[in-house]
Amino acid sequence: MNYGEDYRYIPATSVRSGEGVEVAPDLYCHTVQIVNIAFVGAPDGDSFVLVDAGMPQSANAIIEAAENRFGAGKRPSAILLTHGHFDHVGAIIELIEHWKVPVYAHKLELPYLTGQKSYLEPDPSVEGGLVAKLSGYFPSEPIDLGRHVQPLPDDGTVPFLPDFHWIATPGHTEGHVSFFREADRALLAGDAFVAVRQEYLYKVITQQFEISGPPRYFTPDWKQAKASVRLLEALHPLAAITGHGRPAAGEELIEGLKKLADHFEELAIPDHGKYVEV
Ligand SMILES: [Zn+2]
Ligand SMILES: [Zn+2]
Repeated sequence: MNYGEDYRYIPATSVRSGEGVEVAPDLYCHTVQIVNIAFVGAPDGDSFVLVDAGMPQSANAIIEAAENRFGAGKRPSAILLTHGHFDHVGAIIELIEHWKVPVYAHKLELPYLTGQKSYLEPDPSVEGGLVAKLSGYFPSEPIDLGRHVQPLPDDGTVPFLPDFHWIATPGHTEGHVSFFREADRALLAGDAFVAVRQEYLYKVITQQFEISGPPRYFTPDWKQAKASVRLLEALHPLAAITGHGRPAAGEELIEGLKKLADHFEELAIPDHGKYVEV
């Protein structure tokens, strides 16, 4: 296994880095610098899974967060990926080596996780703030997890999480997925939508809450991204952990997501940028 050639530590952080929030008794959101990971499973239960794998060089922090919640030496049954961007797979090789666990992602995301395909270059010219401007510095070369990553089952079931199903939510990446649990309408949305304006450094650092479209500098297909937000909105989630920003619940989530879906062109799609059709 190896990371891409442009893999590097990114010196960006936020006020929530290192902190965790329990969204439900078996749903925990932990922030690594500027991105969220989630643990699904009760602390006193038999097993848990990790959703997404944080920033480059954050493996020790993630292992520590898992052991703080589940107990010393505990390890997840699997790692599920919403997508393969560097800030969602940043520590995955060290985690696989430490925990010896399988990884699952959508089959269309596998080429980006097995060294075959690079994501489109981030677009520093996109409308937005300083994070957008700096995004040219973000890694975009694919990592190679080899045989350690497998496709999610075609029937929508989620390995080790019988109450959840996965939903294809492409746009931000080709094989982006979200995970949804009908029983309490809990959603793990990855970057299909997020809870902070991720392009703006000040808002990222302070984690200013706002249901927002996918990070602009990294989103190549806005038509699909819009369809994915509409799809998630139609599920009427009651609690959501997204890739960036604090978890959202209740009215703020319902209203924020409806507003985003209804006004996607104005709110999410940048006015200019190289992946915007004119
Ligand atoms: Zn992303
Ligand atoms: Zn992200």
